[in-house]
Order: sequence, then C-alpha cells, then structure tokens
Amino acid sequence: MSNAVEFERVSRHFGETRAVDSVSMQVEEGHFFAMLGPSGSGKTTCLRLISGFERPESGHVKIFGQNSEAVPPNRRPVNTVFQDYALFPHLTVRDNVAYGLMVKGADKSTRHRQADEMLELVKLTGFGSRKPGMLSGGQRQRVALARALVNKPRVLLLDEPLGALDLKLREQMQEELKSIQNQLGITFIYVTHDQGEALSMADRVAVFNEGKIVQEATPREIYERPRTHFVANFVGSSNVLSPTLSVQSGGPSRWMSLRPEAIRLCDPSNSKLKGTLQNIRYLGASNRLSIRFGEEELSVSLPSTEVAPEKGVQVGLTWEEGATHVMDEDH
Ligand code: ATP
Repeated sequence: MSNAVEFERVSRHFGETRAVDSVSMQVEEGHFFAMLGPSGSGKTTCLRLISGFERPESGHVKIFGQNSEAVPPNRRPVNTVFQDYALFPHLTVRDNVAYGLMVKGADKSTRHRQADEMLELVKLTGFGSRKPGMLSGGQRQRVALARALVNKPRVLLLDEPLGALDLKLREQMQEELKSIQNQLGITFIYVTHDQGEALSMADRVAVFNEGKIVQEATPREIYERPRTHFVANFVGSSNVLSPTLSVQSGGPSRWMSLRPEAIRLCDPSNSKLKGTLQNIRYLGASNRLSIRFGEEELSVSLPSTEVAPEKGVQVGLTWEEGATHVMDEDH
C-alpha cells in the first residue's frame, strides 16, 4: 500500500505557539485516518498544511509521494468539509454541490447529472432545488459532503464535520460517513476531539497534544495500550497505576495502564488489590466505582445489572493476565 499523505518532521509555528511541532506521520491510501486531540493541539493546522492553506516552516508534506510545497491548493487532489458547512445561501442545493464543477468549466447537463449522483450518495435525492436555509443541520452537512465529493478528490479532509449536530444525528452520520468512505474507497482524514468518534470510525488514530503526535496506532491499541498518561486520560479515562501500586498488585515496578472495564470485584482474600469503595456514579448502562488505595484511586466499570457494594466497604479487585500495560513515560 502506498501513502496518500506523508509528513516528514513538519513544523508550523505562529510566534511563540508551536502549532505543529516536528510531526511525522503516514496516512495510507484508502484509510480512514483520525486526528484526535484537545482544542489547540494542532489538528486543524495539519489539515491546512495538507490542503495547502498553510506552509510548513520546516519539513515536508508529501501527497501521493510528491513534495507538495510548490503545488497550489486548487491543484492538490484534496477537498475539505468544514463543521460550519460553508454553503452558499443564495444557491440551490444542486448548484451548491455543482459549484466546483462550474469553476472547472463543466457544462450544465454534466454538472446537474453529477450533482444529482452525489445527492443520491448522501441520501438527499429530491432536495436539489431547495435552498440551504430550508434544510436541517444534518442535511446541510450532507450537502457539504456532496459538494466536496463531486470534485472526486483522492483525499477528503474533514474538520470536525459533525461537531454541530446533536448526539443521535451524529451517530447516524458517523455510520453513513463510514459507509460512504467504504463505497468510494478514498482516503479520509478526519479531525475530531471526540474520542468515541475517532475510535469507532478510524483505521488509524493519531492522538495530538501540544502540536505533537503522542501516539499513532489502531483504535484498539490506542484504547487498550495507551502509551502515555495523556493518552490514557484523554481516550476513555483509563486507570494509571503507580509503580508502587503495580508492585502491590503483583506487577512490575513501572507505570501501568488498566481499563476500568477490565477490573472485576472479588473477595478481598483472593484479590490482587484491596481498597475502599469511595464513590459510585450511575451512568445508565454501567456504574463507575471509585476505589481508594491510600493516595491513589482506581475506577471500576460495573454493568448496572450487577449489584454494587455499599460505599465505605473494603473490596477486592482482580483482572485477567495481560489487562495491564507498561507505559512509556516514567512520570
Ligand atoms: P480546535 O480543535 O480548537 O480547532 P486544533 O487542534 O485544530 O484546535 P489548531 O487550530 O491547529 O488546533 O491550532 C493550534 C495552535 O495554533 C492554537 O494554539 C492556535 O491558537 C494556534 N494558531 C492556529 N492558527 C493560527 C494563526 N493563523 N495565527 C496564530 N495562531 C494560530
């Protein structure tokens, strides 16, 4: 497999701000690649470096193996879908979708045919003559998607495309985006600060913090084997065991990660760790128990169908061999 996009030690600073700080990454052709991280971690700047609206100060951005520095944005085989849709309010849905084709000089019948094909792909057949103001947020986002796809980009850049939608619609659109990506087989590079979104949709996830990629791996690896404290906390709030607690539980003298749902309650006499049940939070499908061990606390996720013990009692914790993972960092 070849790479659609490759960053070689790319940096882009704004004054004192290291927006992108020596980032190297490879996005394989045909992959759904998510860039996940908190606000200000450099994700959007990376997208703008790919689309050509920013230039690297140092390093190289390669697109399909070619150095992209000399290629202007409109000559790059990429298109962007934004969170705020950026539709033209005075144009119909069909003309919005066909806009890129008009700029390229396609004749009217070709424009309409291709726009209608894209509207069908995003399940908006029959909406072509409406104005964007007559559509819901989810429908506008579909138009924005159709408008980007009509140009047949080889790489689609999506910048928090579902950020403005409510949860239910978001989940529905996540499935549809994934299925459109499968259908078209083009590379999607998707920026989000929602870890659930990144984990459920992507083939690979790059976790950003302060302009750097702190871990790049499959969703499962990111979730189950967070490499640093930051990844452990940002992606699904994992437990981090100190070397002392790890040794107490029979593990090595290292910082270890352990997922809350990998822990089971058991009889204290037969446990890896004994602690005090400090608090129980009801989360619908599960309860989140906080167990205290001196200065440290671990979270345990228990299906809410199971009866939780009383607060203040001593509980035993155990887990399967292999549920803990050594972390890179020593702090
Ligand atoms: P968000 O999720 O909020 O969009 P992000 O991870 O996409 O955040 P970026 O938009 O890439 O982050 O911004 C990274 C850093 O660079 C931020 O501190 C931002 O304020 C700064 N920055 C981005 N663009 C500019 C600019 N044109 N001028 C000055 N600073 C900028």
